[in-house]
Amino acid sequence: MTSELEAENAALLQFLYACPAGLIEFSASGGIGMVNPAAMNLLLPIAGRPFVTNLFEVMEGCAPELRNMIQRFEPAHGAICDGHRIVTGRGDRSLVLACSIVKLTQERYITTLTDVSEQVARERRLKQAEAWFASLLDGVDDVAVLSLDANGCIDAVTGSALRQTGFAETELLGRRFEAFDRPDRASAMPLPGEAIAIARRDGWHLHEGWHARADGGRYWCQRLVAVRDHAEAPSAGFTLVMRAVTRQGKDAADLRRMLTRDHLTGASNRAHFFEAAERQRVRSLQGGESMAVIVLDVDHFKRVNDGYGHAAGDTVLREVARRCEAELRPEDIFARLGGEEFVALLPSATLEMAVVAADRLRMSLAGKTIDCGEAQLSITASFGCSTLDAAPAATLAELLAAADAALYQAKRSGRNRVVSFKADQVAA
Ligand code: GH3
Ligand code: MG
Ligand code: MG
Repeated sequence: MTSELEAENAALLQFLYACPAGLIEFSASGGIGMVNPAAMNLLLPIAGRPFVTNLFEVMEGCAPELRNMIQRFEPAHGAICDGHRIVTGRGDRSLVLACSIVKLTQERYITTLTDVSEQVARERRLKQAEAWFASLLDGVDDVAVLSLDANGCIDAVTGSALRQTGFAETELLGRRFEAFDRPDRASAMPLPGEAIAIARRDGWHLHEGWHARADGGRYWCQRLVAVRDHAEAPSAGFTLVMRAVTRQGKDAADLRRMLTRDHLTGASNRAHFFEAAERQRVRSLQGGESMAVIVLDVDHFKRVNDGYGHAAGDTVLREVARRCEAELRPEDIFARLGGEEFVALLPSATLEMAVVAADRLRMSLAGKTIDCGEAQLSITASFGCSTLDAAPAATLAELLAAADAALYQAKRSGRNRVVSFKADQVAA
């Protein structure tokens, strides 16, 4: 009997260790009992140290809600959550985890953690594609279809493409499709080859911008590059769909807003920020110009939520975005990175200029109370600045990490202040 139990136990342990999903057994106070290697791989980077003992402590930064969810769950046993999403880290190092928790007894819980980052990224792009296709079907004016070879050169055109552009077939064939882009200063153009590279990676790429017509004029064009290859025939080329948007304005503007804006604050969303910031970084490097990043995090924001409710918290976030945007230049990009954390990207600004700008934002937030209906709330925020000229070859992730380190310093030295990341720290 004992040996049967032992064998069963050994088999169970073996299963736990080989299981590709992260498994953690923990107590009501978060104390970790058993953790398998897959879970350890996910937990250690979050913890930022080589050991973990308490699940709630590890997750405090990215999923503080876990503690409450577990405390609030009254039944003696059962599923507490299924696939609850947790975002950890940021930028290149950001992961999305799906977390399911089961209560076994009053004192024993088990959670599974699975890395679903890829799936989430795919879902996001799918949503964008859906939005685009919905708008495509709604009031089609003129849709042209072209075929591109593996290098992105036009190798077949339909009559609709000739009508839309006014070019003859011979003028289109063999040209790169970007040859018809008509950049204007206000809109961010993808770099040549970027659309193809992204389509190759993600299956498709969407762009909107001015497009050349044969008569020298231009028209506003929504353009989708979709990959045609499949497992058996890689790099079979691409299909290019071009939609001429002749009705001025609203659809395209709404669509653009939907794809690029944060729904709560109206600031740029995270995805759009990373795309636009990377483009700006490459431009700044090529032009030998500086570029600065300011990250800001509202101080003690939890107290607003806890003391005045989530709706008041939301009002504060909207007002933070409004005030910051009002202080920035039109060419600056202001985005919500998540929660109560925002970022501003200042093209061609030096570190000194960024510090001055950040201090302006700081004063604008701290200077006047925010009207949240029944309460007038005073808030402050902490700021971290970093700049490309401190480390010219820095990646966007490194720039953000540097600004983050400065922000952390601002928090530690008392909040409501601006700290900049000095060049000599870059090497450290
Ligand atoms: P610190 O000064 O150290 O930054 O403290 P803090 O309280 O601001 O920081 P913490 O990161 O602990 O709290 C952030 C809180 O923001 C926790 C989370 O519930 C809340 N939050 C995140 N997103 C939203 C949102 O969209 N709306 C509201 N109302 N609250 C949010
Ligand atoms: Mg925060
Ligand atoms: Mg905060």
